[in-house]
Amino acid sequence: MGINFKWDITYRCNLNCNHCVNGNFLNQTDQELSTEGVKKVIDRLSDIDTDYVHLLGGEPTFRKDFYEIMDYFGEKKRVYN
Ligand code: SF4
Repeated sequence: MGINFKWDITYRCNLNCNHCVNGNFLNQTDQELSTEGVKKVIDRLSDIDTDYVHLLGGEPTFRKDFYEIMDYFGEKKRVYN
């Protein structure tokens, strides 16, 4: 059994929920990984026994490279949720 990985790939979000655990970080982009940085993390993840990866945020689809990131996961031949 592998690990489950939960990853906030962005803190950008168009909502402002009272219960948000990332409320203090919302819409801060200065610590967001670049596309290449994200791919390096995916490379490392593909080397370990990972059952699934949750892409969270913020709103993950706010990243302009969201589909590129998903394609890269696919290239790694792993099934993630
Ligand atoms: S990150 Fe989630 S919980 Fe936080 S404001 Fe956005 S939608 Fe709401």
